[in-house]
Amino acid sequence: MENKLRNLYTLQNIDSNLDELEEMKGDLPAEIGGLEDRANELRSHKTALEESMRNAFAMRDGADSEILSLKEKVERYKSQQYTVRNNREYDALTKEMDSATETIARLEKEMDQLEGKATTARNDIAIVTGQLEELNKVLEEKRAALAEVSRANEAEEEKYRHDRQKLVVRIPKADLATYERIRKAKRGKAIVSVKRGACGGCYNRVPPQMILELRQNNRLFMCEHCGRILVSDEIVESASSGA
Ligand SMILES: [Zn+2]
Repeated sequence: MENKLRNLYTLQNIDSNLDELEEMKGDLPAEIGGLEDRANELRSHKTALEESMRNAFAMRDGADSEILSLKEKVERYKSQQYTVRNNREYDALTKEMDSATETIARLEKEMDQLEGKATTARNDIAIVTGQLEELNKVLEEKRAALAEVSRANEAEEEKYRHDRQKLVVRIPKADLATYERIRKAKRGKAIVSVKRGACGGCYNRVPPQMILELRQNNRLFMCEHCGRILVSDEIVESASSGA
């Protein structure tokens, strides 16, 4: 059991060291995450704008060719009017021509609107592209800064990770789960020593009876107030001496 407690305490030390190294990275990881989210948003906004621009241009081109064929039709009707046999046929052609001319006018209006829509989209795309370029520049700088910090601590971090891996396999899964759960809840320290009769985590008094039992190092004791695992000085010393 002493071994188990010592392993857990050693794990805590390694994790605290890793936390410290992580802290040196400062806000950079969070900042980079936020910027990446924003960049993704801008990219999908840009894709939507490009699609809307393409559609507007395609519809404009469709209207354009429809106008062309309608104009041809009007010309045809015009020449046919010279060959009609009676007024009824003449009027029928006039009606067709009027209808085609009306449609042409409507389509021309639509073309203008589509042209305007496509142009607006193209301008917006230019703005978003500029924003993205700006954002990517900042992202690159932040990533470079983070890489520099990481590089400086790489060897140390690697060593702790290696030590951690070796240690974790020697700790029972249930204890490890308890440890991880408390560590998460307490944001860092899951295991603390008893100092002058008080919990090293929350500084509340630990009952003398528990201190006595705890010194036997034969089971896990939790602080009644904060729920952290309490260990004796003996464990602390043997762990820090690397035994
Ligand atoms: Zn406590």
